Amino acid sequence: MAKIKKVRFKLNTFEYIKPFHIANNIAYDTKNIEVIIELENGIQGFGEASPSFRVNGERIEALMALEEVVEEMIMEMDVREYRRIFEKIDSLKSASSIKAAVQYAVLDAFGEEVGVPVYQILGGAKKEIETDYTISIGSIEERVKDVREILARGHRIIKIKVGENLEEDIQGMIAIHEVSKGCKYIVDANTGYTPKQAIKFVKEVYRAGIDISVFEQPVDMNDIEGLKYVRWKSPFPVAADESARTKYDVFRLIKEEAVDYINIKLMKSGISDALAIVEMARTANLRLIIGCMGESSLGINQSVHFALGTGAFDFHDLDSLLMLKEEKFRGKYKVEGPVYKV
Ligand code: MN
Repeated sequence: MAKIKKVRFKLNTFEYIKPFHIANNIAYDTKNIEVIIELENGIQGFGEASPSFRVNGERIEALMALEEVVEEMIMEMDVREYRRIFEKIDSLKSASSIKAAVQYAVLDAFGEEVGVPVYQILGGAKKEIETDYTISIGSIEERVKDVREILARGHRIIKIKVGENLEEDIQGMIAIHEVSKGCKYIVDANTGYTPKQAIKFVKEVYRAGIDISVFEQPVDMNDIEGLKYVRWKSPFPVAADESARTKYDVFRLIKEEAVDYINIKLMKSGISDALAIVEMARTANLRLIIGCMGESSLGINQSVHFALGTGAFDFHDLDSLLMLKEEKFRGKYKVEGPVYKV
């Protein structure tokens, strides 16, 4: 038996090494909630929630207040029967980052209990993955300088934030390409463009001879028609991120044939919906990226094990821990430049 005896939430603040600037939002630090689940035999499982008000409508104070609620929900349940616990935790509909952290902490405790790492519990499909690195919005000179720095650190997959200033974004893209030929690009507008602006962006970039691997969330999260418009007019694959939070969102995106890619983030869907989205995407022939919010090494650990276990992703956008000041690395995996491995 491996029954849950205690659930604890702990608030941790991490500063960004350099302010993180995306369309209409700049972050200087991130407040994350560590979730600790303790079993009757003393084994502990760890998870981390990195809440997002912009995407999930989550507030730290409201989430912290769920500590007792969660404990009451899953007290005395056996982590070896984790599907039962997942189903209970699925009721946390407006606290998806907590849902992710609790569900992962359950898997982590189960893994410790049976001596099997979580990536193997989830399928053991891969041993290593490569992360991209994100270039914030900034002046063209700043963007180019940041690209040179990450190239020197071995990154070959570059995520580029756009969506505030169309002309500057196009010029920035061309300038970045000049110094990073041979790299792959994921371009993310974080809902910043209108459908027509998005088409202008991709057409200009295409004309400049640049190939984009994925064009992420060009338009408003609720504008499914707009996503679809961009998908069919763009020479590059289009991804939903903010538009794809739960498995129900993804079901609709599939029915509407609105996108080529889904960006799964555990913080939006928890482990249970993320597992469902993986199977739905495979069935519907969609491609997948795995992304993150502001997780530290503890939270990124969750996505690394999920990605290794399912083996489902073309791209891994798991760079937040590389951008945060953190005293101690807490992942159950190794970091070698852009490569994460077990
Ligand atoms: Mn995104």
